[in-house]
Amino acid sequence: MARYTGPNCKQCRREGCKLYLKGERCTNGKCAFDRRATAPGPHGTARKKVSDYAKHFREKQKARRYYGILEKQFKHYYELAEKAQGVTGTNLLIFLERRLDNTVYRMGLAASRKEARQLVLHGHFTLNGKKVTIPSLLVKAGDVIAVKESSKENDKFKALLEGFESVNLPKWLEKDVQNAACKVVALPARDDVDFEINEQLIVELYSK
Ligand code: SF4
Repeated sequence: MARYTGPNCKQCRREGCKLYLKGERCTNGKCAFDRRATAPGPHGTARKKVSDYAKHFREKQKARRYYGILEKQFKHYYELAEKAQGVTGTNLLIFLERRLDNTVYRMGLAASRKEARQLVLHGHFTLNGKKVTIPSLLVKAGDVIAVKESSKENDKFKALLEGFESVNLPKWLEKDVQNAACKVVALPARDDVDFEINEQLIVELYSK
């Protein structure tokens, strides 16, 4: 399965904002963007005139990198969003939020979306009682995502589950501490997307 393997922090510096790709390091004072917020490369500090296309392109790249997905898959979500009822930009963000790896991250059971993706791939979660290994799966209202019984004994999950009770969940998720699970009580809404993004620019980019 294709994935980005380059340096994470460079992506934040390129997009000019923190994308929270490295878990604890993003908040413990060691963040590369906090130390140097300029774009990477020898011309990173140069003041450049930003073209209209670049403005649209960067917004798309920001969303894509924030959710850790590749171009082809991102375009696929855009096509789904276009076909769905409602506002295309909002639909797009909701599809991205509904990904299983993002849901696991939002449950507080992984330090980053990248880690969540890996934990799902390694089969540490169940969806409605059945083992799942597909990070791109889209959760729907009524779904229950839980840590697999045998994985609860794993040292990593023991540590993660210690803090589970105090995790602040978005309103579309409901916690079941006893079963190390969350229920999707409703589909996420636009205001559940917790980073600054102008989705209209992405729609305009793909509609050109
Ligand atoms: Fe981005 Fe995290 Fe690296 Fe900071 S530490 S630059 S937020 S990936």
